[in-house]
Amino acid sequence: GTNIVVGDVIRTFASFLRTFSGVRDEDRVDGVDAALPYYVRRLTHLRALAAADVGAGLSLPVRVSQLRGHSRESRVLASQLRAYPNEVVPLLDATARREFLRLFPAGEHDLDGRHIQVRPHGLSDTSHMRSLDPQDLDTLVGLLGMVVRTSPIVPDLKEGYFVCEVCGNTMAVGIDRGRVEEPVVCDERGSNGSGCGARGTFSMVHNRCTFADKQMVRLQETPTEVPPGETPASLLLFCHDDLVDAVQPGDRVEVTGLYRAQPRRINPRITKVKSVYKTYLDVIHFKVVER
Ligand SMILES: [Zn+2]
Repeated sequence: GTNIVVGDVIRTFASFLRTFSGVRDEDRVDGVDAALPYYVRRLTHLRALAAADVGAGLSLPVRVSQLRGHSRESRVLASQLRAYPNEVVPLLDATARREFLRLFPAGEHDLDGRHIQVRPHGLSDTSHMRSLDPQDLDTLVGLLGMVVRTSPIVPDLKEGYFVCEVCGNTMAVGIDRGRVEEPVVCDERGSNGSGCGARGTFSMVHNRCTFADKQMVRLQETPTEVPPGETPASLLLFCHDDLVDAVQPGDRVEVTGLYRAQPRRINPRITKVKSVYKTYLDVIHFKVVER
């Protein structure tokens, strides 16, 4: 298993946010005192954005190579982030939020229920699409490629809203491993605090469900990566929230994300199954290299 100590992750990342000083030109943050540590400036900028635009997604891009080079502890954290992003990224999000509120004690109002999403990027070594293998599943991966197709924006169910047809009790159910399960029994977890005890009586109320924007992007490997005589490999990317519409066909991008597999919906009429799982990248960060 993992060797992640929650307290260490939080302490190390908080220290990084408080003390890392950016030195590159591209690390400038407009309108914020350049003498402040780099990520303090980013959080200051984020507060201004949160206050000015109630609809804005709140992202904190973090360059992994900076994290790796900052201290001995942060080097360990960078490795853990690569290997166990499912566990580490939520801890980074929570730490960023805590640091935001430490800097701006009245900032809760500006956040208005929004999460600060830490977006790791800039891995020192990018992978080759065609050499991704099962060992890379559920790790943080960086890829270079060309966007060849983008889907329309589709609503992605985040939280289902159900009503008991017997007693009118309502329940909200969050998404778990890609699925929203209908409540089985009408009990005290619902809105009326008691429930009628009936089973299988819930139906979904579509206009009360919560949806997020989702978009699929097809990324193709760059021509220099294609061995002679072979066709280019490609990979499906899933984008959510403020990453939707961030790239267009023709863009050359560096994408950072979680490499994942999900079971294929197997068509019973098709007897020859190519692969039981389809793999994709859940995008955390896009950098457009050339447009
Ligand atoms: Zn009921």
